[in-house]
Amino acid sequence: MLTRCLGARRLRQIRRAFRHGAVTFLCLFLTVIVLRGTIGAGNNNYATFDISTILVDEPSSKDEITRDPKAPYTLGPRITNWDQQRKRWLQQNPNFPNFIAPNKPRVLLVTGSSPKPCENPVGDHYLLKSIKNKIDYCRLHGIEIFYNMALFDAEMAGFWAKLPLIRKLLLSHPEVEFLWWMDSDAMFTDMAFEVPWERYKDHNFVMHGWNEMVYDEKNWIGLNTGSFLLRNCQWSLDILDSWAPMGPKGKVRDEAGKLLTRELKNRPVFEADDQSAMVYLLATERDKWGDKVYLENGYYLHGYWGILVDRYEEMIENYHPGLGDHRWPLVTHFVGCKPCGKFGDYPVERCLRQMDRAYNFGDNQILQMYGFTHKSLASKRVKRVRNESSNPLDVKDELGLLHPAFKAIRLPVSSS
Ligand code: UDP
Ligand code: MN
Repeated sequence: MLTRCLGARRLRQIRRAFRHGAVTFLCLFLTVIVLRGTIGAGNNNYATFDISTILVDEPSSKDEITRDPKAPYTLGPRITNWDQQRKRWLQQNPNFPNFIAPNKPRVLLVTGSSPKPCENPVGDHYLLKSIKNKIDYCRLHGIEIFYNMALFDAEMAGFWAKLPLIRKLLLSHPEVEFLWWMDSDAMFTDMAFEVPWERYKDHNFVMHGWNEMVYDEKNWIGLNTGSFLLRNCQWSLDILDSWAPMGPKGKVRDEAGKLLTRELKNRPVFEADDQSAMVYLLATERDKWGDKVYLENGYYLHGYWGILVDRYEEMIENYHPGLGDHRWPLVTHFVGCKPCGKFGDYPVERCLRQMDRAYNFGDNQILQMYGFTHKSLASKRVKRVRNESSNPLDVKDELGLLHPAFKAIRLPVSSS
């Protein structure tokens, strides 16, 4: 019928035109898909995406509660009866004991980093390695962990941010006996070492340091505030209050920095930092605080990386995990490296290379449980150190970290 109306030739022409059109349309469709993927709102390429389009800096909002600038800085409302309040809470909540075994306090390890991405994205990769390292140590030792990325108090930015955070956590978690602050640039290098909790039964604040350097020399590196233990009690709230006043950003922090440089031994010129402020507080008010502060140097609660990282091979050769001291340091702390910031005090290459070595040194102690090890301290690749067994429960993990005694928790007896 159609053939009769149009003629066979004409019909062929129309069919060909249709086929042509379909091909053209398909090409157009594919072009749009490809273009959508490479430009504009539909970019699906993570390698080229500019993160600043999402993470814009918001101006501080007006409805934020701000304090009277003339009033002296405080961390919060004054609390004077925390010991009684906490004791009552513990009595009323027997399922949340502050000791999980005799001489084994309930511990919360607290660490964190800035709310913003690092200046160089590789810094975020090191933050990831660092938190993975802490998760491993804490799992093995029955320690809870809290990672903070919020700035609770805008005035206390930077190294002072830990103070408002620590106070908030102590008051919110009466079940926690000791809070363990650890910097993001510090890593566990001894996975088997258990903190000698018994040693601190009469103390509230444990930092790595030396009495003579703090109290006699007033040396600004007489102690380190990158890894410390703080008991949950009224005394600790009080020392936080006395520690905080040099923290507020701006004039207060700058002026306090001048005082600290003047009063402390070997301190460079820079704004007030929490570590110098602690040395100054203890040196000037030893009578008030000294008897409850334990400056530990029997093992590396904090270990300065500069004197440790070139000796890892020698340690592996001669010693074994579990010692915690110069033979096998509990913590290696990359003081001054600032892997997340713009500028550090040391060459970036040395810092990052050595952070990798410290991470792998610690990670080898985790991998050995599963029969693996890093090919070298410089390698992210791993190799097998024993063959798979058809009796998996018979394999011996040399360090005994799969089911360590210090992890065993005595569960409270159920009342039902
Ligand atoms: N920090 C934080 N929020 C911030 C900046 C820093 O929680 O906005 C923490 C972070 O864990 C960091 C620590 O404060 O490791 C202290 O700073 P840093 O380690 O750079 O000082 P250093 O040990 O080199 O003196
Ligand atoms: Mn640090």
